[in-house]
Amino acid sequence: TVAIKIENVSKNYGNLKALNDVNLTINKGEFFGLLGPNGAGKSTLIGILGGLVNKDVGRVSVLGKDIISNYRESKKSFGIVPQEVSFDPYFNVRETLELQSGYFGIKDNDEKINELLEALDLADKAEQGPRQLSGGMKRRLLIAKALVHDPEIIVLDEPTAGVDVELRNSLWDYVIKLNKQGKTIILTTHYLEEAETLCDRIAIMNKGKIVKIDTKENLINSI
Ligand code: ADP
Ligand code: ADP
Repeated sequence: TVAIKIENVSKNYGNLKALNDVNLTINKGEFFGLLGPNGAGKSTLIGILGGLVNKDVGRVSVLGKDIISNYRESKKSFGIVPQEVSFDPYFNVRETLELQSGYFGIKDNDEKINELLEALDLADKAEQGPRQLSGGMKRRLLIAKALVHDPEIIVLDEPTAGVDVELRNSLWDYVIKLNKQGKTIILTTHYLEEAETLCDRIAIMNKGKIVKIDTKENLINSI
């Protein structure tokens, strides 16, 4: 089954073609890598999937349904882990996750929240405010926040930028586990090695276009 189908999608900022006629199909359960230099269009593409950026033209469907006519449903299918860390300073870790559950209309989400706190090693930080968290803890909270509604498709936008090796590995262990449970994972990165180790299939973007897309084995052999 298809998780995401992107057809002829373009997005301009003035004269700048952030996305130039992009076509892409990602299958359910895939661990997919979106690679490319800064400015290639990766965040714009992800923004369109998450409903944060409006495309100019083209079609996007999520789990077989058009993203525009099924806006709410599509949004629920995604858990997007953004690049920038930002939290409301007035809410502690648990409250942050409760608030996010409320945003998705989930009332009693204790079971899932506790599971995430455990899995991401935040359980003993549950009552702390964001200001008391280290950079690594904030990253993990960001991931927990994106997963409270148990989304089918998980998008990680450069999740390891500025993250130390130990945390990086524990973070990947958890993401790999989610993928094994059948979740579709989309990872943007500008590290080829990272994509190589993790992804089944990789698309390389440059100047708003997908310039190459293949399985990791074929891509490595062609370099
Ligand atoms: P990447 O995530 O691959 O670094 P982006 O999708 O962030 O690339 O950016 C693609 C291009 O679009 C870049 O040239 C960037 O400067 C431009 N861009 C992105 N967002 C905006 C915006 N809100 N306004 C104007 N230009 C933008
Ligand atoms: P609305 O669409 O109602 O205007 P926003 O887009 O402003 O809401 O999102 C509200 C909060 O939910 C923000 O913290 C945003 O980052 C978060 N959010 C929205 N969609 C998702 C998603 N699919 N995954 C994770 N967080 C999301």
